[in-house]
Amino acid sequence: MTTTSTVLIANALLADGDGVSDGPRDVLVADDRIAAIGEPGSLTAQAGTETSVTDAAGRVLLPGLVDAHSHAGGRVFDPDVQLALLRQGVTTVIAGQDGVGYAPGDGAYATEYFAAIDGANPAYAGGGIGALLAAYDDATPLNVAALVPAGTVRFEVMGRSTDAPSPADLAAMTALVADGLAAGAVGLSTGLDYVPGIFASTAELAALARPLAEAGGVFVSHMRGGYETGSAAGIAELAEISRVSGAPIHVSHFHAEPHLVLGLLDELEASGIDATFDAYPYARGCSLLAMPILPPAITVRPVDEALALLVDPGERARLLAEWFPSIVDYPSLGPDWPGMLTFGHIAAAEYGWAHGLTIAAASARAGRSPAEFALDVLVASRLEVNVVMAVRYRRTDDDLAQILSQPAATGGSDGIFVGRHPHPRARGSFPRYFAELVRRHGVLDLAGFAALVSTRAVDRFALGERGRVRVGEIADLVLADPGRVRDGATYDAPLGLGEGIDDVLVAGVRVLADGALTGKTPGRGIRRAVRTTSQTGAA
Ligand SMILES: [Zn+2]
Repeated sequence: MTTTSTVLIANALLADGDGVSDGPRDVLVADDRIAAIGEPGSLTAQAGTETSVTDAAGRVLLPGLVDAHSHAGGRVFDPDVQLALLRQGVTTVIAGQDGVGYAPGDGAYATEYFAAIDGANPAYAGGGIGALLAAYDDATPLNVAALVPAGTVRFEVMGRSTDAPSPADLAAMTALVADGLAAGAVGLSTGLDYVPGIFASTAELAALARPLAEAGGVFVSHMRGGYETGSAAGIAELAEISRVSGAPIHVSHFHAEPHLVLGLLDELEASGIDATFDAYPYARGCSLLAMPILPPAITVRPVDEALALLVDPGERARLLAEWFPSIVDYPSLGPDWPGMLTFGHIAAAEYGWAHGLTIAAASARAGRSPAEFALDVLVASRLEVNVVMAVRYRRTDDDLAQILSQPAATGGSDGIFVGRHPHPRARGSFPRYFAELVRRHGVLDLAGFAALVSTRAVDRFALGERGRVRVGEIADLVLADPGRVRDGATYDAPLGLGEGIDDVLVAGVRVLADGALTGKTPGRGIRRAVRTTSQTGAA
């Protein structure tokens, strides 16, 4: 087979999860693979006349970064989102998170319920995980891997039922999970604070997880109970699911005080549970406004039915009197919830002025109580509203560094690209990992950083021959300037792009050059790879 050398990256320090080169190297890329690595100047003879040369000039060459918790599955066709991800060095995203995704089914359920998180997917109209993955091939600069979303599976089989599944329902749901894994999904996702996951019992989830152990997929979970002080109960449920099903587990956006996170990880390890997690490098969270502030009995309904209840005077009075007082008990919120929730996305144009304001500030401006104002905005937006959520418990950058330097951590932004005033994690997470963990706190060296943001997630989710700067690997490659890498997005100005990463290759093709998109679309839907013995799970 003849190969075409396409790119020579000269004078780069190589870093992956296995180590760092002892000096600069030249890396020759041919077709979609790394073809040769040698001392500076040694590969010139092998490079063809068509080869384009990039002088790394001392920059670090990393394997493409992996976002292990992404809500960009429908947005990777949008050049703004492509640029936001590639400027962080992200070349692969894992989508279908929190139990809700486009496939299986026609995508309508996710598009409606997660409108303010994932938005629509313009390339998918049905056909299952295989069709979803195929829709990414050569259609975007980014690679996309998919989880089978347990909530969507439940919806496909049981509709909006809040009951336990019958044996026949459970068999049909488990078959959908197995189908998705056979089509290349990398695991199963659950969102147990969202509907319909909130109605699923531990036994139901364990049954759905059974196909994972055999296929090599991971049970990925937004845990039940609001995290923070509720984390121990959430982890206990995941441990039980892992014990019964044999599936490895991955905790999504593990946010709680470090002593809780570290203690629970220790307990899992001591009881022999294979566990990893992701965590974004910010204290505040972001989600649907409806998730913490409306009862699941309302959000499980079709939007039109939910709205009819919210505008009914009797229902609304009951909500205000009986439901709202209880939301102070939600572990992520508390009595000051109106001051903690900042509008990130409001679909209703008449409330556009409230973007970036807390519910406390916006409701005061509107002359309404916080609860009534929140309901007004939800109704006008047909529930399509997301909020950035401040935390009740003190969490410093030191705390985050302690959590993210754990050997079971992977990078995951939980970035949401829907909204005018989004959480900065969508555009800032990966350069922020570098700035905080490598440069500021010094808890990770370059190899540790590469493990966190690439190698470990590639191995954990079986993303194929990626994640290392090694001959024969797929050439998803990122040049980073260690002195310049920084996040440009903040809570107040959340649209700023990352800096210090200007050149990115996906499958050997330049997708970002000098900080700008090239317009090339070599991305793939990543089908779960067969694990090899050299690929281990949790460290
Ligand atoms: Zn999420």
